[in-house]
Amino acid sequence: MTTTAIFGSYVLSRQEGAQQVLRDHWVLIEGRRIAAITPDKPSAAEVFDRPGRFILPGLLNLHNHIFSEAIARTLTEDGNGRRNNRSIIYTVLLPLSKRGAEILSREERLAVARMGMLQLLKGGATTVMEPSRNAIPELFDAAEEMGIRFYGAPYVFSTSDAKAGPDGVVTYAGDDGQADMAIWNALHQRWHGQGDGRIRLAMSPHATDTCGPDLLRVAAHRARELDVPITIHMAQSPGELATIAERYDGRTPAEYLDWLGLLAPDLLAAHCHASTDADLKLMAARGAAVLNCPRVFARSGVTAAFSRFAAHGVRTAVGTDGYNMDLLGELNAAAIISKISSGNAEAASAPELIEAVTATAAALIKRPDLGALVTGATADLTVVDLTHPHLQPLFDPRRALVALANRANIDQVIVDGRVLVHDGRYLHGDEAAITAAGAAAIEKIWALPEAQAAFAG
Ligand SMILES: [Zn+2]
Repeated sequence: MTTTAIFGSYVLSRQEGAQQVLRDHWVLIEGRRIAAITPDKPSAAEVFDRPGRFILPGLLNLHNHIFSEAIARTLTEDGNGRRNNRSIIYTVLLPLSKRGAEILSREERLAVARMGMLQLLKGGATTVMEPSRNAIPELFDAAEEMGIRFYGAPYVFSTSDAKAGPDGVVTYAGDDGQADMAIWNALHQRWHGQGDGRIRLAMSPHATDTCGPDLLRVAAHRARELDVPITIHMAQSPGELATIAERYDGRTPAEYLDWLGLLAPDLLAAHCHASTDADLKLMAARGAAVLNCPRVFARSGVTAAFSRFAAHGVRTAVGTDGYNMDLLGELNAAAIISKISSGNAEAASAPELIEAVTATAAALIKRPDLGALVTGATADLTVVDLTHPHLQPLFDPRRALVALANRANIDQVIVDGRVLVHDGRYLHGDEAAITAAGAAAIEKIWALPEAQAAFAG
């Protein structure tokens, strides 16, 4: 069994259900478990004993899109592709990721997937949940190969070709998801439990306006049969609220899901910033969770404040939505956007945000072995180097992490006891080659006439 000992000037442990910052402790890893957290130097085959490190439980990024966001990268900032500030989800992201998956070879899709996994790991995540088109199964291959803990969430749609008309209303027609459910089941059969259990699936009806009642009932039933989480996009825009109200007797998206029995503790609903206060109260009462991705919406001038969900008592995690897959940067955005929108400096404190991507996120996917550095836990760790000049002098490591640190300060990323990133570099592949191959594949999609049209104006 491999043994590794890491010295932390600060170690974020846990006592009686609350965060506890230990000074000058060692974390001992034996195989895939945390064997001890101790002030005394343990003996181990591999020893990392440089001072100045902050050892955290591995961070969980529960909402990310490697493929679709790579297509939009540096093309949609400053309003491009938005035509009067509209959402780009149905006009750019969904159609181009569908078309892109078709024109790229398996090797090219794999290259994009590897580039994304590399970014996620270097962004501090040990676990990612990745809702994606089911035509990109290479995401599973890349996750298995590169060592991240992966919850693949291949979409099911009532229509596999969701598009919005000029009025913003999504066209709803198709086979009601039967083909997508069959693919989801096949991927579950192939991948769930692979990589020594690192690879799992989540049920992933795409959104409230692209999934009808029958499909949502079938998907929820299947998820509960298999005991996997359910994730969905919900209340992402005022247009979605209008569509759901018109189709389903004035219901809000939250009421629509509640009517179908989906609003429950196993539901992880991404975004929800267009929800009414009554919707958030209903979500809190049902135990459903919000996956808050504030930075991607800030890009388009939309406020998605962590503090608003927290203030309603909704269990809330933080994800990157594929945009700038830097979980530390996302926590910083969550803090600043919450403080501005609430007008309250105390909103979204550093411990609260760290909790969201550790213990809270682990609880949302029912993984008590993750999200806390305690003896016996699974050895997923994110280690940050606090010796950089912008992090000194240091009074409070948690505030330094959220207010001042970013992905360049990630020193080590360890998953299942295996060191994947060390000194900020990925150890098991050539970073430059992975990046070049992934970018070249995305540039092929950019060359499509429909891509050029989508990004114009
Ligand atoms: Zn999303």
